[in-house]
Amino acid sequence: MPSKRSDSGLGSGLDFSDGSPPRGTQGVISTDNVNDQRNKAERRRLQGLQTAAAPKGRLRHDPTRPQKFGEKISIWLINEGRQRIFFILFLLLHLLVAVLGFVHYALKDNLNNARAEFGITFTIARAAALVLHVDVIFILLPVCRNFISIARRTPLGDVIPFDKNITLHKATGWAIVVGSVIHTLAHIVNLYRLTLANTNARTTGERVAFFISANFIIGPLITGWLMWICLGTMLWFAMEKRRNAGAGGFERFWYTHHLFIPFFVLWQLHGMFCMIKPDRPPYCSYNTIGVFWRYWLVGGVIWIIERILREVRSRHVTYISKVIQHPSDVMELQIKKERTTARAGQYIFINCPEISFFQWHPFTLTSAPEEDYISVHIRVVGDFTRALARSVGCDFESGRSKGAAAATGGKVINAVTNPAINRVLPRIMIDGPFGTSSEEFLNYETVLLVGAGIGVTPFASILKSIWYRMNNFRQGSRTRLSKVYFTWVIRDFSTAEWFHSLLHALEEQDSLNRIEINIYLTGGVKEDDINNIVVQDVGSEKDAITALRAPTHFGRPNWDRIFTSLGQKHPESDVGVFYCGPNALASSLRYMSTKHSDPRGARFFFGKENF
Ligand SMILES: Cc1cc2nc3c(=O)[nH]c(=O)nc-3n(C[C@H](O)[C@H](O)[C@H](O)COP(=O)(O)OP(=O)(O)OC[C@H]3O[C@@H](n4cnc5c(N)ncnc54)[C@H](O)[C@@H]3O)c2cc1C
Repeated sequence: MPSKRSDSGLGSGLDFSDGSPPRGTQGVISTDNVNDQRNKAERRRLQGLQTAAAPKGRLRHDPTRPQKFGEKISIWLINEGRQRIFFILFLLLHLLVAVLGFVHYALKDNLNNARAEFGITFTIARAAALVLHVDVIFILLPVCRNFISIARRTPLGDVIPFDKNITLHKATGWAIVVGSVIHTLAHIVNLYRLTLANTNARTTGERVAFFISANFIIGPLITGWLMWICLGTMLWFAMEKRRNAGAGGFERFWYTHHLFIPFFVLWQLHGMFCMIKPDRPPYCSYNTIGVFWRYWLVGGVIWIIERILREVRSRHVTYISKVIQHPSDVMELQIKKERTTARAGQYIFINCPEISFFQWHPFTLTSAPEEDYISVHIRVVGDFTRALARSVGCDFESGRSKGAAAATGGKVINAVTNPAINRVLPRIMIDGPFGTSSEEFLNYETVLLVGAGIGVTPFASILKSIWYRMNNFRQGSRTRLSKVYFTWVIRDFSTAEWFHSLLHALEEQDSLNRIEINIYLTGGVKEDDINNIVVQDVGSEKDAITALRAPTHFGRPNWDRIFTSLGQKHPESDVGVFYCGPNALASSLRYMSTKHSDPRGARFFFGKENF
């Protein structure tokens, strides 16, 4: 049953939370009463999107009305279509290469002897090998982050879903696994035929011995099985459940994935033995054997350049200039690094040799390009982040420290400008910055930014940058953005605190009401807190929890109403919807973006940051 607040909200367009009770309700009471009592105070503070009343008459933007087939296609193309078409093309390419390869090896007049000796499995093995070589072209490119960052800014960015780079890498990896299985099975049958044709092995025992021993003495077979050991190990540790298992799961995945280097070397050797010869000379020319490297070349060279670039960048003068310990196990590192230019919404890789020389961890920049330092907000979740927190002097374990951070919204632990509190900070190295979809926020006049929990980090940088641009701090960099809706979904109060100062500054400066902030609290609220909120909130101009003009909402956002309201307020506009956080919410937002897009009204372009 919808909450009372929802009911009242329906009429006025006030309540954008879904009315479902917050989770984690042990020792916690329903928030309906709070909602009722806060309504009056909120009503005065609610901003544009929230106060949207349903327009009279027929809506220009009505996504539920029947659409023509062409309109449905154009809506599908906005978010879903591009990715689906790309992956269909990916599959078609595989099919095409497999068919062409099969026809080629089945008809080639120089391979009659091989076909006569082994039959169709020879043709299948060769066609599968050709498809595998094509996969080698693609396997490294999606993990070349500099390459992707540059390519996404070219017209290619309109065609290729660069946000799905890791999905493409995985899809290519699976294609290599499938191709390898087909290739191996076909060659096992070929070996069986070779065994039967071996006149030296007359008894079954001799044939079995030959069949088994051939795997250890024939070059292509030895290298083939070694390649399987590498591929199988990479696959085993890369599986989602093992990679995210905690307790070193990611590290095991990361280190074993480097077996791709011996895998490629073995692949090159695998094709150089010239065991199955063509009918006519030249039997084994430079052009026909060991051609793996030609397919590998483009991706391989770009990958090597990226590694070299990382080495070069990691040698640039870099030091931590300030460490701030925030509530909810979040620490902020402000870093000075020479020769670094960043854009809002980008991320960097951080390495701390004191902790591990090999581990590079990605973190989104929370500083704006207009600032003279770069900053990251890091949530302490596992081995690396815990060790980093310790080495920069943060103490999230002791209650006293927690209290201090919570009370002030952040405690400065280290600062190069304040020797009194300074300690020796560890050396860090940085690679990047690299681009993400959030970078594209400036392409739209209206954007909806949605962060969940620590997933708010890319928007810290974006909101700061918008703030600088709105105030024209950098001549000539005024933005065409006219309206920004920022929505943050968090579980408890303290999560919001480290971000408060920025949101306050934005509200203060935003005299034209161009940024609308909405915070949704999805965790339970304690009885004591409810009383405090009610007492402070009634009649107040500011929210009792955040002290912002924008009220805090309880429960999950009602996306249907939010998107409907956006469509009404910005008809005929392209709205950029940018999200960072858990996958479940990403699916809802993608669905809503498609559902509420109207080819003759507002179109919602969804972009997701992969954490
Ligand atoms: C593009 C991107 C931006 C990110 N931005 C932020 C941010 O701004 N703030 C923040 O707190 N966190 C961010 N993260 C997550 C952060 O990288 C991980 O929390 C961190 O690496 C965890 O390391 P750990 O050893 O402490 O924890 P672990 O317990 O070892 O790992 C926790 C989870 O983090 C992921 N992870 C671990 N190591 C890596 C790695 N080297 N590369 C990629 N993922 C890894 C894995 O999914 C793992 O299951 C971001 C991740 C990505 C991919």
